[in-house]
Amino acid sequence: MPFSEEIKNGNKIDMSWPSEEWLHGRIEGQILLNKLCLKLKSELINAGYNTVVPGLDEKFWSNNDSSNHVAKFTSNWSERHAAFICGLGTFGLSKGLITQKGIAGRFGSIITELYLEPDKRGYEKIYENCSMCGKCAENCPAGAISIENGKDHIICSRFIDKTAEIYTPRYGCGKCQVDVPCESKIPRQ
Ligand code: SF4
Ligand code: SF4
Repeated sequence: MPFSEEIKNGNKIDMSWPSEEWLHGRIEGQILLNKLCLKLKSELINAGYNTVVPGLDEKFWSNNDSSNHVAKFTSNWSERHAAFICGLGTFGLSKGLITQKGIAGRFGSIITELYLEPDKRGYEKIYENCSMCGKCAENCPAGAISIENGKDHIICSRFIDKTAEIYTPRYGCGKCQVDVPCESKIPRQ
């Protein structure tokens, strides 16, 4: 689900801290996405197809000890990897997924016994849609991204924690997803 223009544009006004629009898109938007996934799951099960929403199923949860930044990134399930496999897009330098609608948005995934004709995957390499322009690195207020080393998840996570202290009950940043050539489309190489 790509973010709306209001959410993306709101987050470009102050490139140091997340905007209200972005914070609501990130948190309330995720609640909406979760509800959509659960609604589809119940429709599929009612139609006779066993179905699971991995992101909301505790079998797929990993150690989420918030005091351990590394543990936070050892997940049993990744929406972006699922989206990559399904043909939606490839990774960018910032580790977001660049789809035909860009990098700014959220993913959900559903595994079901219902057979669906697969889409054609229009790429082969994991960073194929990224031009490696470096604008996401320039935008990052925490200095978490570089062309040489990619994204440092620990530095990013510490910055997100800081936003949680200021904006609780919400948190987020997303400066690597706005005002970048891949914001709303696959950028020119
Ligand atoms: S801003 Fe440039 S380098 Fe960063 S993910 Fe987008 S296309 Fe890749
Ligand atoms: S979310 Fe923010 S802190 Fe994290 S990599 Fe993107 S711009 Fe940097």
